[in-house]
Amino acid sequence: MDLKKIEELTKEWLVAIGANVNREGLEETPNRHAAACEHLFSGYTKEPKDVFKVFDAEKFDEMIVIRDIEFYSTCEHHLIPFFGKVHVGYIPNGKILGASKIPRLIDIFARRLQNQERITSQVANALNEMINPKGVGVIIEAKHLCMMARGVEKQNATFTTSALTGLFKKNSNTRMEFMRLIGK
Ligand SMILES: [Zn+2]
Repeated sequence: MDLKKIEELTKEWLVAIGANVNREGLEETPNRHAAACEHLFSGYTKEPKDVFKVFDAEKFDEMIVIRDIEFYSTCEHHLIPFFGKVHVGYIPNGKILGASKIPRLIDIFARRLQNQERITSQVANALNEMINPKGVGVIIEAKHLCMMARGVEKQNATFTTSALTGLFKKNSNTRMEFMRLIGK
């Protein structure tokens, strides 16, 4: 990432919106913004295989669910944050993942310019590719600052997206169990 360039452009941008770049509070802002970008867009430098640690599931073949995983992302249409929770479930087919790996996987996709639908399907697809489970369910509930602070200015709207594959899609009992385990 070209942090020097981000700094330069941020300074120009501050001038363009009419801010006084020489006042004390803004002096270090271009530099801080570049550092923030490095973190917010760190997902571009990582791939799912970098974080995956796959274990043998032995005989465990019941649903595994991790719910309420927070994420922070940036809307690609407005460059404004959206954030919320991800719920992930899967039924192993011989392989399971280390528990901390799913939050890391979500961050790889969330720390990019994104839309919520794409993060949802990217997480489901990555799980399918890496451990080939009998089914995957991913549900994301988020609030979009681009809806809250601008546009329709709706403060309480939560946007929900889901990606269901395998048994989660085919079998309504599996789907219901997933919903129950994530508290829906
Ligand atoms: Zn937006």
